[in-house]
Amino acid sequence: MTVSLSRRDAIARLGVLAAGGALAGCASSSRSASGLVVASGPSTLWRDVGAGSATWHSVLASADRVTRTIVGLRPYRPSGFVVRTEMLDDKPVVHNYGHGGGGITLSWGTAHLAFEQAARTEHREAAVIGAGAVGLATARILQRQGWRVRIYARDLPPATTSNIAAGQWSPFSVFSPDSVDASFREQFDRAARLAYRYYQDLVSDEYGVRWIDNYSVSDRATGPSSLQERLSDVYPGSRELGPDEHPFPARYVRRFISMLVETSRYLRKMEEDVRRAGATIVVREFRDRSEIAQLSEPLVINCTGLGARELFDDDELVPVRGQLEVLLPQPEVDYIALLGNGLYMMPRSDGIVLGGSFEEGNRSLDADPATSRRIVTGHENFFRQVQTRIDAGQPHSEGP
Ligand SMILES: Cc1cc2nc3c(=O)[nH]c(=O)nc-3n(C[C@H](O)[C@H](O)[C@H](O)COP(=O)(O)OP(=O)(O)OC[C@H]3O[C@@H](n4cnc5c(N)ncnc54)[C@H](O)[C@@H]3O)c2cc1C
Repeated sequence: MTVSLSRRDAIARLGVLAAGGALAGCASSSRSASGLVVASGPSTLWRDVGAGSATWHSVLASADRVTRTIVGLRPYRPSGFVVRTEMLDDKPVVHNYGHGGGGITLSWGTAHLAFEQAARTEHREAAVIGAGAVGLATARILQRQGWRVRIYARDLPPATTSNIAAGQWSPFSVFSPDSVDASFREQFDRAARLAYRYYQDLVSDEYGVRWIDNYSVSDRATGPSSLQERLSDVYPGSRELGPDEHPFPARYVRRFISMLVETSRYLRKMEEDVRRAGATIVVREFRDRSEIAQLSEPLVINCTGLGARELFDDDELVPVRGQLEVLLPQPEVDYIALLGNGLYMMPRSDGIVLGGSFEEGNRSLDADPATSRRIVTGHENFFRQVQTRIDAGQPHSEGP
């Protein structure tokens, strides 16, 4: 089937293509009369990202649609992630941990930085400790450069914190602005840009990575966040919408485009890639540094997330607890909503993911019923108003 495109759709799609690099895993495509390559199969890659919606859909948020409640601990350091080399006896250990609320996003970026440090040694064989998003991306980058890699990890997907993540591509809540210096900011910006580029090569159903519109709503005129201003190149399509361009119950709505990573599908595929490229994965827990020093591999990359706190005595590394409610899937909903009060909605194929909670220092992995109620009720109120507006014919124009 050949899909006909309006000019606006075509421009939007070209924009995505230009930014998107190789579109691996895409459904079959054909060339239209205008010369554009258009999709001809069911694929999430080809939605009208950035073109607005002709038809808006609200989320059916209610307690009876919750399929599961999940809890994870973000590995947060106020002064940001650590990518640094130290010697353990005569073994170089390259640290790559402490990504806070942005570890899925930044994983390929800090993996690249860690690889640069590893490549300064004479070694070409490494033990990567950790099989979350950070460890797996690190292993893949080493493998692509011809290194021999063995992964050691206490937990494998789906039992990692990375599997809990909602999956928005946004290097958000990674550090506290008051606690970082210029050199960290430089490292952070570089990691974000590198990760943005690496992820674009993974946009596909196979990896569960796609482009998606985000709507950030607020009752105050806030403009873009300082992060979005600083890294405007990794937040394309950012602009304030007029009241006729959206159905959201707020005075100010900012639209930007990001990627969404379906974490369970993505991590499963990453683990498969690592194994296919020849790595063995050993399930093993390290109780202290001396056990790491005894490994046969000449170089170690430490991607243990929150585990680094005990292993390497990093007291600055603290858990920031997050709880998510997952609703039955709604394939027709294809935008991220940031509700302006810390709540957010991300539509994944395995369910509509509702957040959020940020509890610094809380290590409990038990679901908290009061948090569940707050998250579900907050979204229920919001999306009931969205539905009312849609029923009343809002937005009146076709969208941005
Ligand atoms: C509710 C929630 C929502 C989130 N949403 C997002 C989001 O939308 N976007 C985003 O970018 N990020 C998000 N995050 C943050 C993200 O999940 C983390 O930053 C990321 O998972 C960190 O990855 P990691 O690989 O460092 O750690 P992990 O996934 O925790 O992996 C650590 C690995 O190290 C192993 N390990 C630890 N200690 C030891 C030891 N002693 N011996 C052997 N192995 C060990 C573990 O078993 C595991 O394999 C969210 C987090 C939460 C909790």
